[in-house]
Amino acid sequence: MAVSELPIHPSSKAADIDKPQQKDLDRCVHCGLCLNACPTYRVLGIEMDSPRGRIYQMVQVQQGAPISEAYLEHMDLCLACRGCETACPSGVQYGRLIEAARAEIENKTERPLLTRALRSFVFGTLLPSRGLLKAAAAGLWVYQNLGIQKLVRASGLLNAMGTLGKAEKLSPPAEFPTFFRAYGKVFPAEGQKRYKVAMLGGCIANVSFARLNEATVRVLQKNGCEVHVPDNQTCCGALHLHAGIRTDARRLARTNIDALVDGGYDAILTNSAGCGSTLKEYHDLFEHEPAYADRSAKFSKLVKDINEFLAGIELNPNMGPVNATVTYQDSCHLAHGQKVKAAPRKLLRAVPGVTFKEMPLADVCCGSAGIYNVVNNEMSMQILERKMEMANTVPANVIATANTGCMIQLRAGVAQHGKGQRVAHVVEILDEAYRAYKG
Ligand code: SF4
Ligand code: SF4
Repeated sequence: MAVSELPIHPSSKAADIDKPQQKDLDRCVHCGLCLNACPTYRVLGIEMDSPRGRIYQMVQVQQGAPISEAYLEHMDLCLACRGCETACPSGVQYGRLIEAARAEIENKTERPLLTRALRSFVFGTLLPSRGLLKAAAAGLWVYQNLGIQKLVRASGLLNAMGTLGKAEKLSPPAEFPTFFRAYGKVFPAEGQKRYKVAMLGGCIANVSFARLNEATVRVLQKNGCEVHVPDNQTCCGALHLHAGIRTDARRLARTNIDALVDGGYDAILTNSAGCGSTLKEYHDLFEHEPAYADRSAKFSKLVKDINEFLAGIELNPNMGPVNATVTYQDSCHLAHGQKVKAAPRKLLRAVPGVTFKEMPLADVCCGSAGIYNVVNNEMSMQILERKMEMANTVPANVIATANTGCMIQLRAGVAQHGKGQRVAHVVEILDEAYRAYKG
């Protein structure tokens, strides 16, 4: 397509901090060793949709090139999966770069009115609001459980509904009661108390993965944790950061830091790899904000993914058998964002009755990537099809993973291309094992 410059936002005064920093760009030596780790490059084979190509374009923009439609498309098509970061021998922090590039696009360009209104509602209003999330889940529950969904799906209407139709096909079931009922409560350790931990419920996970969150609490209790679910926590801001909306992300981060950092917790835990990756990098948001620089660094040090935490303590061995052959799909933000790969495998292998089988290319993205599977549905589905080809080579009846977004995506993959595999979070398998223990 022709290169056209996007309209400049009328109030454009992007802080210099919210754009790719030269010191980060300079680390790339353009060797190309990251190309094969990049899902979009593997599908398209186009340099500008590779990590090296995207970094090259960021450099051009920092040297004065306009933010064009083409630039926006190449940045939008990146999954921010950070597979390239793991592959890079030069230590390029690609996650920082792509988030900063998107922030610069957000600050310096004007999106169409409807897009702006929708983004403002979803990111600014819906995700941080318990009331609205519960209301949306109630509407979704009615739609899914009173026969309306079946009628709509059978009518073929979804194919004509664009992005909304794609979102519908990927929508997880609404779960009642929601996990918000646990907010403000403390769940005692079973047996001797070994740790005092705080748990973050997420945003959408509170209404769509409420049972998973409850399973997480139970597993922690079984492992001697007194689990606090602080009432004044909020959405972590990961989806905002991926979309370049850093002002809102900083606001949410300050709320979480103030709610949790002085609570005397041994760890602040999440079962969602996407959230964990952002929470561990809160300090990156406050490099230039002295009031929160130290507090955010202290907060980030306390954050642990649930797999990482459980694999790092002496695990309660009182589990019953879960007879299943399990393979594991790495969640990008756990494997590449947090560099946690061994922990979930160690936990799965610790469950009696589980036969663990490694999947080829397990650490290549499944195409979920936050809301990427909705807004870049075509590419996401191509990546998912390749993922399912790999999953189907393994004689496993369970695909385990460590992120709610990956669970939604893999369930769609099983429905379209799978062999009837069950998709489960690692913690759900542990919870089943503890519940199966007969003493
Ligand atoms: S990001 Fe790393 S691996 Fe990729 S081209 Fe640059 S230096 Fe090489
Ligand atoms: S983050 Fe993922 S999709 Fe984006 S350039 Fe890196 S490997 Fe490719």
